[in-house]
Amino acid sequence: MALRFYNTLTQQTEDFQPLHDNVVRMYTCGPTVYNYVHIGNLRAFTFQDILRRVLRARGYTLDHVMNITDVEDKIIRDAAAAHKSIFEFTEVYTKAFLEDCATLRLQRPERLVKATEHIHDMGLAVEKLTQKGFTYVSDGSVYFRIASFPGYGKLSHNDFSGIRAGARVDVDEYDKDDARDFVLWKAQKEGEPAWDEPCGKGRPGWHIECSVMAMKYLGETLDIHTGGVDLTFPHHENEIAQSEALTGKPFVRFWLHSEHLSVDGQKMSKSLGNFYTLRDLVAKGFSPESVRYLLVSVPYRKKLNFTFDGLKAAATSIDRLRNYKLRLETGKFGEGSNPAIADRAAAAVTAFEDSLDDDLNTAEALAAMFEYVRDTNAAMDSGEFLSGNRDAALEFLTRFDCIFDVLTPSARANEGLSDTEIESLIGERAAAKKSRSFARADEIRAQLAAQGVILEDTKEGVRWKRQ
Ligand code: AMP
Ligand code: ZN
Repeated sequence: MALRFYNTLTQQTEDFQPLHDNVVRMYTCGPTVYNYVHIGNLRAFTFQDILRRVLRARGYTLDHVMNITDVEDKIIRDAAAAHKSIFEFTEVYTKAFLEDCATLRLQRPERLVKATEHIHDMGLAVEKLTQKGFTYVSDGSVYFRIASFPGYGKLSHNDFSGIRAGARVDVDEYDKDDARDFVLWKAQKEGEPAWDEPCGKGRPGWHIECSVMAMKYLGETLDIHTGGVDLTFPHHENEIAQSEALTGKPFVRFWLHSEHLSVDGQKMSKSLGNFYTLRDLVAKGFSPESVRYLLVSVPYRKKLNFTFDGLKAAATSIDRLRNYKLRLETGKFGEGSNPAIADRAAAAVTAFEDSLDDDLNTAEALAAMFEYVRDTNAAMDSGEFLSGNRDAALEFLTRFDCIFDVLTPSARANEGLSDTEIESLIGERAAAKKSRSFARADEIRAQLAAQGVILEDTKEGVRWKRQ
C-alpha cells in the first residue's frame, strides 16, 4: 500500500512522494525557547519523530529543518524580567529542549537553525516583499497587506475577503476572527533588541522567520511542513502568504498538523497552568519510554487526553513487549517451523506496515503488534510455536522498534536536577535578589539544597556543587 498523509491544504488524504529524487524536504516549526517545554509540545515533536522514522523505513533520505525561535514577544518579555539578554536567556531553554528530545529518543532533524542567526536574510525578504508591493509601513513597522495575496485563507479554509483593509496587528499570535494585516518587521521599542536592516531598526515578526529559514535550506517548494494544529492559523497561513508572494510558487505540498494533548478536556498549555514537563514525570518515577509510548499511542490527528492511568497503562504495555522479547530469546521451543505461525507473522507485519502507511495510524500498528503477541504467546503455551518461528518474531520486534523505540530501557534518570535546571534556578535566584525578593531567593536556595545542590556566593558569582 502506498504511503499517504492527510493534507490540511487539500483536506484530502493523498499518496506521498517527494518532488525531487528520493529526498524528502521537510520543515518543522520548532519551539519558542522561553521556558521548559511541556509534554503537549513534546507530542508535536514526537509525531514528527514517527513521521521521520516511517519515511526513512520507506527508503527516503531526509533533509529536515527545525527552527529554534529565539527572538519573539514572550522571549523579550521574560528575558527582561530575568535581567538577561535574550541570548543568555534562550540558551538555557534551547539546551533543555534538546536534552528533553534526546530523553524521548527523538531523532535530531538534519539541521537545527536559530532565528537570530538569519536576521539579515529576513531583512532582505521584507525588502523584497516591499519591492513587489505586498507591504506598507506604519509607525516604522512593516506590515504584510493580506488583501494583496488572493490565496489568503487557503490553508485554514477561511474566507477573509470581507475583512477591513488596513487594519493591522502587531502581536505574533491571534485568532481567526482577528485576521488582519500582520507585522513582518517590528520597529524597535525602548529596551528591545534590534537589528539594523534596510527595512529599519527592529526585529522580524515570528512568521517571516519560518518562511525565510525554510526556503533558505529547502528551496522554494517543500515536500512537507509540520506543526501543531494551533499553528495552522495565523502562523502557517502567514508563512504561505509571505513565501508565495516572494516566489510565485507553491510553498509546501503537504501540510501535516498534529492535534493537541489535553488535560480534563482542555488543551495542555503554559497559560492555563495544566501542564507537565517530561522532567516532572521522570522525577515522579515514570520512564521516558512510557511517556513516548503514551504520546504515540493515539494517531496524531486525534486528541489525546493525558491521565496518570494512561501513563501507567503505557508502562504496562511496554513491559508486556519486553517480556515477550525475553521469552523469544530465552524460551525452549520444539524443532522445526510451523507454517501457520510463519503466515501469522507475515500477516502481522503487513498489517503493521499498512497501518503506518495509512497516515501514520500508530494505534492500528500497535494493535497489529499486540494481537500478534497474544496469538504467539498462546502458541508458545500450547507448543505450536517452534524454534524456526523465532527469527521472524524477533525481526518483527526490530521493525516495530525502529519506529516506536521503547524496547530498550533508559538508564535511570533520577540523579536529580540536570546542570541546565540548576543553572536556570541560580539565574532566577540572582534575579530575585536583584529585585529584593529575598524570600524567593532563599526558597530557591532551599529547593536546591533539598536536591543535594549546595550554593556558594563568591566575588566571582555563584558557585555550585552536588553533595
Ligand atoms: P510553542 O513553543 O508554543 O511554539 O509550541 C511548540 C509546538 O507545540 C507547536 O507545534 C504547538 O502547536 C505545539 N503544542 C503546544 N501546546 C500543545 C498541546 N497541548 N498539545 C500538542 N501540541 C501542542
Ligand atoms: Zn514556524
